[in-house]
Parts: sequence; structure tokens; C-alpha cells
Amino acid sequence: MENKLEGGCFFRSVEYVVEDNFSKLIVCHCTQCQQITGSSQASNLLTDLDNIIWLRGKEKLIRYDDPERDFTKVFCSQCGSGLPFVNKSNTHLIVPAGSLRQSPSFKTRVNLFPSEQPSWHRNSDY
Ligand SMILES: [Zn+2]
Ligand SMILES: [Zn+2]
Repeated sequence: MENKLEGGCFFRSVEYVVEDNFSKLIVCHCTQCQQITGSSQASNLLTDLDNIIWLRGKEKLIRYDDPERDFTKVFCSQCGSGLPFVNKSNTHLIVPAGSLRQSPSFKTRVNLFPSEQPSWHRNSDY
């Protein structure tokens, strides 16, 4: 890896490195992503399937796949932090942007379902 970025969970029981090579940042404001994150949006980076080295704590990961829709959540069983996973269709590694400890670079940013932003968080708030 040339441009390595470090990431992991809040309590550092899970740690990983990825190459700084992301095709896209997807910021999704849909109500499902609000529930999954407990926040106003999900911010996920897309990269190649094999672009990750788990340094420790991989056994602490818990995965939930929605049985019907394309929603997956992977999180640390100790602290609940969202962590990287391979999507259900097996096409990308999804890296929650907030799990990185350094700033990623990416080619494009896509905003999905901006109209579903909750009333307590609108673009005009910042
Ligand atoms: Zn969403
Ligand atoms: Zn943790």
C-alpha cells in the first residue's frame, strides 16, 4: 500500500488499514440510513473488494444484512462503531468515512435522498 489510511472503532479494539483509493463518497440521507447510524446521514466510501488489511479485532465484528433490501451494517461488538464491509452484491468494499482516522481522497461525492433529511438537520444549518 502506497497511501495508507488508518481506521477502526472508537475504542480501538478493531483496527484496519486501507489504501487511499476510493471511487466515490456516498452521503445518504434516507430514513433507513438515519436509523442505521442513529444520525442524520450515512457517509460511505467505495473501494475495491480486497483493499483492506485488518490489524486487529476482526473477530469482534458483527454483521447485519437486511433480508429484503440492500442494507448492511457492520459494527464493533464492544462499542458499536460502524466499520467496513463487503456489500451484499459483492461488488465493493464499503468504508464508513467516519471510521477513518485520516482524510480520504475520492473522485466524486454523491448525495442521495436529500429531501429525506430530518428537520433537525438541513443543509442550511451549516
Ligand atoms: Zn440511505
Ligand atoms: Zn469497538
